[in-house]
Amino acid sequence: MSTVSTEIQGDIAVVTVNNPPVNALSHSVRAGLSDAMKTLSANDAVKAVVIACEGRTFIAGADIREFGKPMQEPHLPDVVNEIEAMEKPVVAAIHGTALGGGLEVALSCHYRVALTSAKIGLPEVKLGILPGAGGTQRLPRIAGPANALDAIISGRHVSAKEAKSWGVLDELVEDDLLAAAIACAKEATKKGPRRTGEIEIDGSAFGDEFFAGFRKSIARQTRGYFAPERCVQCVEAAVKLPLAEGLKRERELFYECAQNPQSRALQHMFFAERQVSRIPGIDKDTPRRAIKKVGIIGAGTMGGGIAMNFANVGIPVTLLEVQQEALERGLGVVRKNYERSAAKGKLTAEQVEGLMGQFTGTLSYDDLSDCDLIIEAVFETMEIKKKVFTELDRVAKDGAILASNTSYLDVNEIAACTKRPEDVLGLHFFSPANVMRLLEIVRADKTAPDVLATCVDLAKAIRKVGVVAGVCHGFIGNRMLSPYGREASLAVIEGAKPEEVDVALFNFGMPMGPMTMSDMAGVDIGYLNRQGMGRENYETKAYDWVDRLVEQGRKGLKVGKGIYTYAEGDRTPQPDPAVMAIIEEESAKLGIERKAIPAEDIVERCMMALINEGAKILGEGKAYRASDIDVVYVNGYGYPPYRGGPMHYADSIGLEKVYAKICAFAETFGPRWWQPAPLLKELAEAGKSFADYDRENAG
Ligand code: NAD
Repeated sequence: MSTVSTEIQGDIAVVTVNNPPVNALSHSVRAGLSDAMKTLSANDAVKAVVIACEGRTFIAGADIREFGKPMQEPHLPDVVNEIEAMEKPVVAAIHGTALGGGLEVALSCHYRVALTSAKIGLPEVKLGILPGAGGTQRLPRIAGPANALDAIISGRHVSAKEAKSWGVLDELVEDDLLAAAIACAKEATKKGPRRTGEIEIDGSAFGDEFFAGFRKSIARQTRGYFAPERCVQCVEAAVKLPLAEGLKRERELFYECAQNPQSRALQHMFFAERQVSRIPGIDKDTPRRAIKKVGIIGAGTMGGGIAMNFANVGIPVTLLEVQQEALERGLGVVRKNYERSAAKGKLTAEQVEGLMGQFTGTLSYDDLSDCDLIIEAVFETMEIKKKVFTELDRVAKDGAILASNTSYLDVNEIAACTKRPEDVLGLHFFSPANVMRLLEIVRADKTAPDVLATCVDLAKAIRKVGVVAGVCHGFIGNRMLSPYGREASLAVIEGAKPEEVDVALFNFGMPMGPMTMSDMAGVDIGYLNRQGMGRENYETKAYDWVDRLVEQGRKGLKVGKGIYTYAEGDRTPQPDPAVMAIIEEESAKLGIERKAIPAEDIVERCMMALINEGAKILGEGKAYRASDIDVVYVNGYGYPPYRGGPMHYADSIGLEKVYAKICAFAETFGPRWWQPAPLLKELAEAGKSFADYDRENAG
């Protein structure tokens, strides 16, 4: 069946796109629109045209199935030019979302009528490209350069009301969209076409100073990204050049973006996030358990934040603590968080009270007996966790899901202390738990498929990206963090200053370097962990200098000094000569002759360590896909999305080279920490990539 059809109603032609599910601009839609314009131009009985869509939305963008393949003609820029050039007025009837190419089609129409519930947007920048079918030239003409820059750089959805205030939409209606669009088309026959491309921008207010100011305002949020700057250049072209030349410039910059590795990386992330909920052994027929009430144990750093996720989506939470004081402190932090949102205008005072009304505090386990899911977030020791789970086993109702937020502990061992290990799994949230998008869902050996399926759905319900991990020390994310931190710390003892290590990794695109991160998390956490491990189980050379800092009370940001020193009330890390003195002493003690380490070497060692551990995790089946590992690292650890996560980054280098590098490191630094992952060796020798592995093992 054709995806574009035309119906003539009197002297108005209604061209309808029907390409489920989102009326994407597949080849057949582009060809259908182009043919319709040609036919209707030649039909003297038709005085005006309406372009409308079937189903739940207006055209919501490009067809992602055509990504990465050569585009078949007609190309969208030609189709939209054809629509705009029509001698008969063309009206867009917009419902749902007009996104990307969909908005570009709408902008090339001469009038736009929309439902009040509709939204528009140009989200291309999120995929590392820019609107390449006139969006960057027409939106500034109709909405003004400032609004256009806002929409194009953020990629956000703009409400119909806001879009109307920008002049993008002519008329909003509550319902009967088609009737309103036809009425608009009839009216338009009197006025004739009104072409967006012919609008002249008054450039006087949008000179170099305006663009310099705008660039400054987005510098932080777009650091390292390639496409945003090209988007700004396009809008500059819209202000300074006639349409035809502006469109040419847009084309050139579009290709620059499309050919830049960042667009591949960002598209990889887009698909990777859509893959995570595909779990072998689970499908839509797997039963789910209803989660109507949640219990949280421990109202500390994590417990309160975890609870907020449920309250935010209308699920009541019972919060359990050991002492009234701790409970009150925990609930107080939650309230403060909501009040902070209210102060920013994101919540009303009534909404804050409504949300707080979802919380019940208790000191008694018996109050958890009606919970469908109970998440434990108490101190990180096996002994305490076991005590808690023994209690839970006693009070939880049949079929309740019992979860631990443990960062490192063995979830199988925790499950084994209950009589219902099939109901137990890990739900590992990231700090701050009400903000961070990542949730590691830790599947223990005996976790029942319906428990896992329920939690995978639940992650989406609380707006997290849930990645399933197997049981191992640190699961996916923290397990990889460990060798990354080791290499960073070794660089310091071998000759780099802490701030040099941080700057190198910050410049690679990490939100902060590992030294600053340690200070923020508390240097004492790693210290305590190592005390429990025994010196034979970790690289003492890397950490002895850090342990000396902790022993001198330098526990990190919380006490104003750690690897760096902090001025009172200031979170800016300041290098401290006293720390350098300790580092130098420790180097001398180890007989290390300190030498400068180039930033590229620091980055390479840290990245290779991440990749090798990732490959081990994948080879051991602790992650289902390499792309899941990328989702963990981008969403939980701030790995730059434009590099596509560590595994995609490895693919972009080439696994043969990565493998050779890791073998070379094993030669130079010794094999203990640099044993190449067997899977990496296998893929490198077969000339394959992690993406090939994912394709061949798609579950
Ligand atoms: P925290 O010390 O801030 O809070 C723990 C809370 O648990 C305290 O309020 C304590 O009073 C309470 N508690 C202790 N024993 C209890 C018991 N038997 N019954 C009820 N309450 C009890 O710790 P946190 O940082 O919130 O960490 C909690 C868990 O989350 C740990 O397993 C940790 O590894 C994990 N985790 C922490 C982070 C993080 O960044 N802090 C991130 C991910 C996971």
